[in-house]
Amino acid sequence: MEVRFFNGGHCRQLLAMADRRTWRIGAFHAVFLAVAHPRHGWVLIDTGYGTSFAAATRTWPRCLYRWVTPVEARTPTAEILRTHGIAPEAIRHIILTHFHADHIGGTREFPAATFHHAKEALAPLQALSPLAQTRHAFLPAQLPEDFAARAAPIPLTRFRAERTTGFPAHDLFGDGSLMLLDLPGHAPGHLGVLIASNRGPLLYAADAFWHHRQIDEDIAPLLPARIAIHDHRAYTATVARLRVLQRTTGLRILACHCPATQTRVGR
Ligand SMILES: [Zn+2]
Repeated sequence: MEVRFFNGGHCRQLLAMADRRTWRIGAFHAVFLAVAHPRHGWVLIDTGYGTSFAAATRTWPRCLYRWVTPVEARTPTAEILRTHGIAPEAIRHIILTHFHADHIGGTREFPAATFHHAKEALAPLQALSPLAQTRHAFLPAQLPEDFAARAAPIPLTRFRAERTTGFPAHDLFGDGSLMLLDLPGHAPGHLGVLIASNRGPLLYAADAFWHHRQIDEDIAPLLPARIAIHDHRAYTATVARLRVLQRTTGLRILACHCPATQTRVGR
């Protein structure tokens, strides 16, 4: 299957947060993917910031988010796809790796899509106070009003160990094309996707790590970046497993905000 990468807006952060050596402010792009499934058409993995961020952070306490994290996202996700020859109205399936604002921001733009996500990803965030939701980078107003009706949550208890990676997995369409992987730690119910791409298997790890140095060289992100992690122990264990997987199998592993992923964007 053809896999395409797009930038769905970006925020500005100290780059050293992720790689511990680039001491300047730079862009953390909100990458999302489109995968050409032979039966289901273009399937999206995440949706970038979309243009919902500004409205969703207008009022207290959600405005704290944009004060702490300056976000630039002016182009609707659907428009980005259209520019690259993909008809957004034809999108029927969207995988949400987790519910952070830079992954769910474009969900309102796809009224015909079903949203696939881990069941455990949303309820814990919905149960939080508005202030705590903001601290966890969750802005409920970014989701469409009929989200619950169009969501297809999959319980993590249904995931079974996958052959190539060893991670618990769920075969989304039952054909091995898109295996949802339980990559815990970064956010509740955080998923990666093992994609049967036309260039060989590709593990899209979403936010399981930020920078390839974390799995290439065993470095940990700086403390302020670590505070944003939902379950630090699980996060570290997931990164360690991905490191071993890459070393032993040579599997291509890409992450959303990693500079290495930028070489694939917009092609
Ligand atoms: Zn995230």
